[in-house]
Amino acid sequence: MQYFENYIDGKTSATEDYLDVYEPATGRVYGQVANSTASDLEQAISAAKAAFPTWSGMDSDRRSRILLRLSELIEENLDRLAEMESRDTGKPLSHARSIDIPRAAANFRFFASAIVSWQSESNTTENALNYTRRVPIGVVGCISPWNLPLYLFTWKLAPALAVGNCVIGKPSELTPATATLLGELASAAGLPPGVLNILHGKGAHVGQALVSHEGVPAISFTGGTDTGRTIGRLAAGRFKKVSLELGGKNPVIVFEDCNLTEAVETSIRSAFANQGEICLCGSRILVEDSIYDRFKSMFIKGVNELRVGDPKEKVDMGALISAGHLEKVDRYVQEAKKEGAELLTGGHRLNRDGYFYAPTALEGMDNSCRIVQEEVFGPVVTLQPFKSAEEAIRLANSTPYGLAASIWTSNVNRAHQVAHQVKAGVIWINCWMLRDLRTPFGGMKASGVGREGGEEALRFFTETQNVCVALVK
Ligand code: NDP
Repeated sequence: MQYFENYIDGKTSATEDYLDVYEPATGRVYGQVANSTASDLEQAISAAKAAFPTWSGMDSDRRSRILLRLSELIEENLDRLAEMESRDTGKPLSHARSIDIPRAAANFRFFASAIVSWQSESNTTENALNYTRRVPIGVVGCISPWNLPLYLFTWKLAPALAVGNCVIGKPSELTPATATLLGELASAAGLPPGVLNILHGKGAHVGQALVSHEGVPAISFTGGTDTGRTIGRLAAGRFKKVSLELGGKNPVIVFEDCNLTEAVETSIRSAFANQGEICLCGSRILVEDSIYDRFKSMFIKGVNELRVGDPKEKVDMGALISAGHLEKVDRYVQEAKKEGAELLTGGHRLNRDGYFYAPTALEGMDNSCRIVQEEVFGPVVTLQPFKSAEEAIRLANSTPYGLAASIWTSNVNRAHQVAHQVKAGVIWINCWMLRDLRTPFGGMKASGVGREGGEEALRFFTETQNVCVALVK
């Protein structure tokens, strides 16, 4: 049995109560994780407050070197971290090795470099000089989900720490392993005690206590839209800065003049990568009616070739995160069939231990159907035909979400015109998940408030102060 403890004030810290940790690929308990209490939270906040003057007062070059060293340590521990991530989430080990862990290292490398080249702003007029300071906020809270655990956790921690804040991080209780090792690596990299504190436990308890705490003036959250709504409400009443990265129901718009082979291959990847458990997954595929049947047969052939199974083997998809999530995914599919959807492939659990679901595609449902309107967050995709660009845009914008969209066409003008009319924060033209960490990242509508990435993140994690000096003539 493995134990995943809190990391407070630079040390491992035991608590009173523990929760079971399941291995999704077997469905068996393999560990216990700290279920943090109010007293753990108070200890973490005191440690962070005590560390703040030294960390925020440190020369940014020195802070940058410590974070660069942490990035190197993540790379040096790639195999170990990837195995932990795959075991905790059920995702293919190959995915954790090639995407999750390298990106966690890249997050620290990127923001460690960004902080030393971040420029301050100033303006002069005939009678005044204005300069703008961006100062660290103090103790900030970072709450992240289970689907890309270390990748998304470090996407918040890296900018928060780089600008000089001290952090209370709350990973998902379902996936505590890599965050626990990150604490050890942070100490080894030379991060002073108290600068980073990691508290495990239930979101509704320790997560909500963190959001409500008067000593934490900013919260960066990634997770579901309903949780985001609760956090937004709690934060607003306390005038906290809040960044909410929430769910998505992302359209993939495929025009007749696209490179069909590439569009099909990438749409399969964008629907089923990480078992469909990525907020950016393309879960609604809209295809111009003149190529609908061709697209469909190529797509289904490709989906049927996906290998699903033991995450340690050479597979394309592993297990879903939990028994509850598996049931939720299956419920959506069975309800969609009752509402008139036709199953093209999949639509069932795999007959083995663990939480495995077959990659699933449906067509023929009404656009108002729940499977089209709500986020399933699993290996399920719908196909819908459209007759014109206007209809494609209308369908694309017809859900409450607005996180991402992909557009497939060889007509450059149309690509831009459609992109400008789709209400989503992230648009990909003839690609998917091509990421540049400098670019703003986040959603419109029910997909969130605020943006992460590059300078947006540095700005979020700082307070702005303008100083105006009169110029004497
Ligand atoms: P949840 O909203 O359930 O949880 C996210 C995190 O918030 C977890 O650490 C959770 O803790 C914690 N939490 C839960 N309730 C509260 C609360 N009341 N107060 C404070 N913290 C709380 O999301 P999931 O973990 O299920 O993640 C899946 C969702 O995340 C999907 O909707 C997906 O689209 C979205 N997501 C969005 C991304 C984006 O960038 N826009 C990226 C990735 C995912 P615990 O798990 O311990 O309960």
